[in-house]
Amino acid sequence: MTSRRASPIVAASIAMLALAVYSQHGTPANAGPVAARASLPLAGKVVGIDPGHNGRNYTDPSYINHPVWNGREEEGCDTTGTETAGGYTEAHFNFDVAEYLASDLRAEGAKVVLTRTSNAGVGPCVNQRSEIINRAHANVAIDIHADGGPANGRGCTVLEPVADGPNDRVIGSSRAFGRVLIARYRELTGMPLSTYDGTNGISYRDNLAGLNLTSVPKVLIECGNMRNSTDASRLVQPGFQRLAAHAFAQAITSYLQTAR
Ligand SMILES: [Zn+2]
Repeated sequence: MTSRRASPIVAASIAMLALAVYSQHGTPANAGPVAARASLPLAGKVVGIDPGHNGRNYTDPSYINHPVWNGREEEGCDTTGTETAGGYTEAHFNFDVAEYLASDLRAEGAKVVLTRTSNAGVGPCVNQRSEIINRAHANVAIDIHADGGPANGRGCTVLEPVADGPNDRVIGSSRAFGRVLIARYRELTGMPLSTYDGTNGISYRDNLAGLNLTSVPKVLIECGNMRNSTDASRLVQPGFQRLAAHAFAQAITSYLQTAR
């Protein structure tokens, strides 16, 4: 046999090199970085993420309980959030999902604005969280929570804003986003709709600063009930949290592409 073929080792090296170049930029090797960024689905978009509560809120009750204006009435600056019977905190869950989501969104070209960057702090207050996302002129935003409902109740709920002045212009867009979000979340994670809150997984809330004060399309999702053992056994798993983040990223991308 005289035909000259690349040895298996050389062929494998070339394939790995090609793969490395491809995966580094997410586009074929001949596209430049600028072209690669511009072609990403969320290029030029800003997404706000508010992981509810904070890991050390319990250490400073006087700060956490001080009243702030939520657009309709006074509300406490923040709360500690709930936790599973095993002691896994909601603040931890919210932050982990937020980090997975931020990573997914950045990979799609979005600029991500988070209301907190660790789970080892106190606050910020709920009105400040809204302000951070409003100031960034986010194209869409999500408040990530898990609920502390009745132990026999299961499932997820999307909380939607009710018109109150500051949020008047984003009521319709928030509803459109909320519909996509709950559908994608259920489809990917299999989490059922709430058995105890809202109607068909949607609840309209006029007593939350995050929704009352928003000037960008935004909803709050309760990803499941931490006080229910079935929901809790899923919520604590990193694999589930990544899936939840993928669902949110897909919903955000889908919403932003149709909202253009
Ligand atoms: Zn919460």
